[in-house]
This record gives sequence, structure tokens and C-alpha cells, in this order.
Amino acid sequence: MNQSNKKLDFLKNSGVNYFLQNSPKCWYENSSEKSSKLVKKDNQDKLYKMKKIIEKIRDHNTPLKETAKNMVVYDGSLDARVIFIGEAPGKDEDIQGLPFVGKAGQLLNRMLAAINLAREEVYITNVINWRPPENRTPTDKEILEFLPFLQEQIDVVSPDFIFLLGGVAAKAILSTPLSLGKLRGSWHKYQSLQLNKTVYTIASYHPAFLLRSPQYKKASWEDLQLLQEKLNEKN
Ligand code: URA
Repeated sequence: MNQSNKKLDFLKNSGVNYFLQNSPKCWYENSSEKSSKLVKKDNQDKLYKMKKIIEKIRDHNTPLKETAKNMVVYDGSLDARVIFIGEAPGKDEDIQGLPFVGKAGQLLNRMLAAINLAREEVYITNVINWRPPENRTPTDKEILEFLPFLQEQIDVVSPDFIFLLGGVAAKAILSTPLSLGKLRGSWHKYQSLQLNKTVYTIASYHPAFLLRSPQYKKASWEDLQLLQEKLNEKN
């Protein structure tokens, strides 16, 4: 870039070009541009931190890498008010490198739509980031190994709510051996040293379980409605 272009860019960035226009912007009347700049900076910061977490997950040594095709970290928004956490990638997720894109993912999309949430506006992830062979349930050791990465993701997104999909996510985040039948239907609290707020958390059934056992869909719908109520409250 030559010197005069640099100068022009400097002037533009300083906002001076607004004063050269016929109807200059009044910063006092409309602060939306200013705040959107702040939001952008915050987004970049989150993106940077998330890239670092993804690098750490990639570098983490696990035998799961030997059988999985792709690492699966997250889908959705880093600015989400709600994080949905599942168990581990399945076959479709392993192929596409994205969480909840198979049959269970399609049901999750419908569950979100039922409470007026779009997939793009929530953050979707799993406890484990590589597909376990034959879709076996992750071991306690694997859960403990991957938990710090999940906790770091929660710190970066800093959601208001967490929705746990299934027993593995509930065990990991709520550190409890209690069954979903006991945990579901009420709010729990998630706290971390990095977040200076309580994140209200619900544990409910996994969409893959709901596909196999549709009689639990009613209970799942009640849990989703608890979330919807809270989201509306805070709006
Ligand atoms: N089941 C999960 O727990 N996570 C996925 O991403 C897909 C299926």
C-alpha cells in the first residue's frame, strides 16, 4: 500500500469521512454503529479463543483418533445464549465433521424449531470430539480427558443456559451419577472459575434415545418449554 492510500485509510478509520459528507453522522443520536464495532471485536476475540481450543483438541493424544475420520467440535454461534451438549459424534457427524447432522441431529433441529430457535443461533457441541468405535458409550476416562475442552468452550461462549442431551452430558457437566429421570424437569446450576455468573442448566433426553423411545418425547417437550420460558423471561 502506498503512502497516500495509507493516509486515506487512516482518515476513513478515524471517522473523519463522515464529516466530509453532506449529512454527517451524529454519533450522539445513533450509537448502533459504535456498539456493532464493539460486538465485532468481541466476536473476533471469541473466534481466536475458540481456534486455540480447537488446536488443543486436535493436539490431544487419544486412541479415538485412530478409528475416527474427522474431529467434531461445534456448530452454531459463539454468541449463543444456549449451549446444547450431546455425547459424541456418530457416523454422519464423523463423516461431515459437524455435530448432530444425522437422524438425531434432524430431530434436534425440530426440537429447536418447536421453541423458536434456529440451529444457527445456538451453540451445539458434544462431550467427546472424536467418534468412539462402533458408537460405543464414552468411558469415564474419555469423559474426564475431554471435559476441560468442553469447559473452555462454555467459558468462551458464556451462555445464559445449557441444555444437556443425555446421560453422558449430564454426568460430565453436573458431575453426578443420578439418572436423567431424576435430573430432568428442573433447573441445575453450572459454575466455572472463569465465568462470573451461574449458567442455568437442564438435563434431558438425547434425541437418539427419543427416536428409539418416543414415549419420552412428552417429557422432553416439557424440558424444552422450561428453556423457552426462561429465554422469554430474560428478553
Ligand atoms: N449423538 C451425539 O451425541 N452427538 C452427535 O453429534 C450426534 C449424535
